[in-house]
Amino acid sequence: MDQDVFIIVCKQCQASNRIKPYAAGKVPVCAKCRHPLVDEDENEAHARYSQKLKDFYNLPDINDLK
Ligand SMILES: [Zn+2]
Repeated sequence: MDQDVFIIVCKQCQASNRIKPYAAGKVPVCAKCRHPLVDEDENEAHARYSQKLKDFYNLPDINDLK
């Protein structure tokens, strides 16, 4: 499942970083200069959003709810 990789350009040194999807509590940092690629609040928001999507897809099919 390695296709879920994002490219984020570092605001500090302009290096392109390939990062895995957002995870709560793990702020991605630049591989070159260790500058955080997103701020913590933004990271948490993305992580929560991904979790919500996952919950949504785990719902039983609507046709099964009779
Ligand atoms: Zn950097």
